[in-house]
Amino acid sequence: VSDAIPPVVKTTCPYCGVGCGVLATPDGKGGASVAGDTEHPANFGRLCSKGSALGETLDLDDRLLHPMVDGARVSWESALGTVAGGLRRITERHGPDSIAFYLSGQLLTEDYYVANKLAKGFLGTPHVDTNSRLCMSSAVAAHRRAFGSDTVPGCYEDLDEADLLVLVGSNTAWCHPILFRRMADAKAKRGTRIVTIDPRRTQTGEEADLHLGLRPGTDTALFSGLLVHLATQGAVDRRYVAEHTAGFDAALERAQSIAPSIAATAAATGLPEADVLAFFELFTRTRRVVTCFSMGVNQSAQGTDKGNAIINCHLATGRIGQPGMGPFSLTGQPNAMGGREVGGLANMLAAHMHFAPEEVDRVRRFWDAPNIITGEGMKAVAMFEAIARGKIKALWVMGTNPLVSMPRADAIREAIAGLDLYVVSEVLSTTDTARATATKTVLLPAHAWGEKSGTVTNSERRISRQRSFLKAPGEARADWAIMSDVANRLGHGASFAYTSAAQIFREHAALSAFENEGSRDFDLGALADLSDRGYDAAPPVQWPLPKRSADPRKGRARLFADGRFYTFDARARFVAVQPPALALAPTAERPMILNTGRVRDHWHTMTRTGKSQRLSAHRAAPFLEIHPDDAARHRLTDGGFARVTTDHASAILEIAVTDGAQRGTMFAPMHWSDMTASNGRVVALVRGVPDPVSGQPELKATPASVEPV
Ligand code: SF4
Repeated sequence: VSDAIPPVVKTTCPYCGVGCGVLATPDGKGGASVAGDTEHPANFGRLCSKGSALGETLDLDDRLLHPMVDGARVSWESALGTVAGGLRRITERHGPDSIAFYLSGQLLTEDYYVANKLAKGFLGTPHVDTNSRLCMSSAVAAHRRAFGSDTVPGCYEDLDEADLLVLVGSNTAWCHPILFRRMADAKAKRGTRIVTIDPRRTQTGEEADLHLGLRPGTDTALFSGLLVHLATQGAVDRRYVAEHTAGFDAALERAQSIAPSIAATAAATGLPEADVLAFFELFTRTRRVVTCFSMGVNQSAQGTDKGNAIINCHLATGRIGQPGMGPFSLTGQPNAMGGREVGGLANMLAAHMHFAPEEVDRVRRFWDAPNIITGEGMKAVAMFEAIARGKIKALWVMGTNPLVSMPRADAIREAIAGLDLYVVSEVLSTTDTARATATKTVLLPAHAWGEKSGTVTNSERRISRQRSFLKAPGEARADWAIMSDVANRLGHGASFAYTSAAQIFREHAALSAFENEGSRDFDLGALADLSDRGYDAAPPVQWPLPKRSADPRKGRARLFADGRFYTFDARARFVAVQPPALALAPTAERPMILNTGRVRDHWHTMTRTGKSQRLSAHRAAPFLEIHPDDAARHRLTDGGFARVTTDHASAILEIAVTDGAQRGTMFAPMHWSDMTASNGRVVALVRGVPDPVSGQPELKATPASVEPV
């Protein structure tokens, strides 16, 4: 791969799962200007506020420039020796499953692949999870239950070609802005109707034809009612259901027990009957429907059932895999899907394979792995609880900031202090996570966006290149190179003799195609022999890319058009979902429901967007949205300050009184941290009860009290 940087570099935005193409023009002084890539099919030249401000975030303030051990600068040799020696010693004393990795949807696929291979094949620990657990693991679980695979059936063009767009638990206008512009274009051009389903009236709801402000956590009742309505109106595609699915009768029977009528649906969701009927009739009478779902669905203790309740309605009508129709999970992070592809979730092995004996054996042979794991590891919430119990002795965190983004983050800080070995691969030295300490603490300086080179996969299965256009500062290195050096010190050098990201990508692609005769959805076989030059120049392309297809490097926009799925009998599955119930209901002491989410111009824990004054001008400080009636009841005034308290922590936030908030609920953004605002860490307040299927924690409904300060 060439080291020469051309004057304009095509790369991909490092923020949300839309995965917009970016043109970066380095200024030769460590900075760059950015513009949208008109040739990238995700955005056709458009960028949102965050993407267009990327050039303002390239400074080196607070950069971690050198390896550090226990607060002292050391050489790479010494830092890598400390990590490898610590891992070896802990494995000998406590076994390999006393080691855990916590990865990130910000990592490139190549970094993710090496981390997963090192942990699951060579160290022999199954405890590899990722902040994607907090993002879309419920969608993954819903896909697998319904389709037999974690496959997003459609593509962004479906948003252009739909006549009805249903947005569930998604402030698309702020969190996937470029997709929302496509939706607005479809509305202007073809009269596409937009329905939003969200307890909170957001910017997205303001622009909808119909907004359904349902009670928190009642999505399964709404979509159960819709399934019943489709059946009673004769809108179920009986031939499709009979030929391509299983489980319809049981799912319908359960739906009838949850929401047997319009009136029952209205009562269960708190919606006006007229609005329920209007939505049901729109869905029933419109063939081209795309239902997009995002964090409001996934970040729930019933997130998997919510996803399946949505998918049930698309299967019942046969509206899947065709232009302008299908369920569509909008992923939050730039590479949430790439992480899924390599197996970066604790309940996956690699390349969309899990733990059937033949899958374990296949991956073991492909990797020539001496210590292949044979079962699932602990998911994020359980992993951090195991650290607190002392079961996990070593933790390696890469590219994420769990001390701000994980539920009950204060307990996590205490848990980390008890680790024997705590390794953080980071860009900044000042994140809450980088400043935490354990018995032995190692900070490893990693490449940032603009310095990294590799691939990411967006919400529509499109793999795009992130390309380097800046020289890495100090001693920062690629994550894959750091891990390969550790593997080498542990005696696994022959299996980690990587010299480029392209080489890792080829191996990843080859594993996806290994003994895959169309039995698995994820197949990059056509890219397994990509040359270095071909990798450098690779255009964005959607998987699957099997070698045996007629046009192997073309990719596929849609799957399941033929009604064949990845279950053993090729039939999709309806799921009989549970009735809606909040994991934690409000009490007399904690009478309000706290919802968390994002603002338009910040990303995650603000480690990059916080550098841009322009972006910070939109919302300069953490805040609490509350309905006027609740504000009056709790003696709160707009612009004043409130203390929000849960069973786990409290925070002081500026009050924003708005009738966009539902009575009895409050909303606070997740971005601010100890670094950026005292008392602003909102997710630290959250209990985070996990979904029993996906393990994704509830971040949208925590009982809380509120008082003026
Ligand atoms: Fe596109 Fe998302 Fe980046 Fe905005 S933040 S430019 S929508 S990828």
